[in-house]
Amino acid sequence: MNSRILVVEDNPANRSLMEYLLGAYGHQVASANDGAAGVAAARRERPDLILMDLQMPTMNGFEAVHELKADVALARVPVIAVTAFAMVGDRDEILASGFDGYIAKPIAPETFVAQVQAFLPQAKRNRQRVSVSGGSAEPA
Ligand code: MN
Repeated sequence: MNSRILVVEDNPANRSLMEYLLGAYGHQVASANDGAAGVAAARRERPDLILMDLQMPTMNGFEAVHELKADVALARVPVIAVTAFAMVGDRDEILASGFDGYIAKPIAPETFVAQVQAFLPQAKRNRQRVSVSGGSAEPA
């Protein structure tokens, strides 16, 4: 089954790469380019999972996850930080801030979708790439 995934990321190249990889596995992807737009998109799109950059203009990822977890309609949607922070201890700070998990940048195209899907229920994971040019949303 496909999932609805929201990508919140201010870097266009990173955003495009995540959209492409998730779409290649048949997931429906929505995106936003800062935290405030991400919170608005989450309320509108009701995604199954949210991928969130930390450093963004207008509203950063920490502020955005705080708003999302305070919203009873969205509090149970997993929010995964996608960030280049590499210092020891950042992972604990990220989880203590309300994020449900953490994926490190740079994104590894070979493993990214599996990393994301680990945070989805079994039934919402897709094991195979689908044709992005054929218009089919079903696994090949
Ligand atoms: Mn950023």
